Amino acid sequence: MELLKSAVLKKGKVLSGDVLKVDGFLNHRIDVELLAEMGKFVHEKFSDCKVDKILTVEASGIAFACLTAQFFCCPVLFAKKSKSTNISDDVYTAPVVSYTHGTTNNILVSKEYLSKGENVLVMDDFLARGEAANGLLSLIEQAGANVVGVVAAIEKGYQGGGDALRARGVKVLSLAVIDSMENGNIVFRPDED
Ligand code: 5GP
Repeated sequence: MELLKSAVLKKGKVLSGDVLKVDGFLNHRIDVELLAEMGKFVHEKFSDCKVDKILTVEASGIAFACLTAQFFCCPVLFAKKSKSTNISDDVYTAPVVSYTHGTTNNILVSKEYLSKGENVLVMDDFLARGEAANGLLSLIEQAGANVVGVVAAIEKGYQGGGDALRARGVKVLSLAVIDSMENGNIVFRPDED
């Protein structure tokens, strides 16, 4: 998606450890107009699919998920990274190694909010090695719900997570796929259509 790619080139910074910093518009300060355009784009790409719920993980996927959900007129459920006292013990849970922190979180959602037979679209800000997406897919599987697809704002294609999901037959839509970030130089994969 050209609008997102331009924002990445203009405002993104490549940090050490293969981390792209886009917190000026995507996951810290939020450019609501841009994310709403991205949401509209996602909705168009999944216009032939029934989406009952969008599932993401706190915190950086929430804004993009919410601004997309308004077009599907569906709720957003975000997996929590730790259990607070106000959440029941009745949860689905899956281990996820954090790309940026290196730690493992047992992400969880209340069973009452993820139901058998629901059609669930997974969303996140980044898709790198696929740890977060796989954890979310596991929650959906445990609930007996259906996976509509996996959407990432930015996929770092060379880290393999997206292609592994595609190889498993999961429909993956990434609005910008980065093929390399060597020496701070961001190279995008050409769009599919
Ligand atoms: P994965 O689980 O696919 O390896 O990594 C995706 C998760 O790690 C996302 O939830 C995202 O928050 C974080 N992440 C991975 N790569 C980057 C990156 O280059 N920049 C930022 N800001 N977050 C990233």
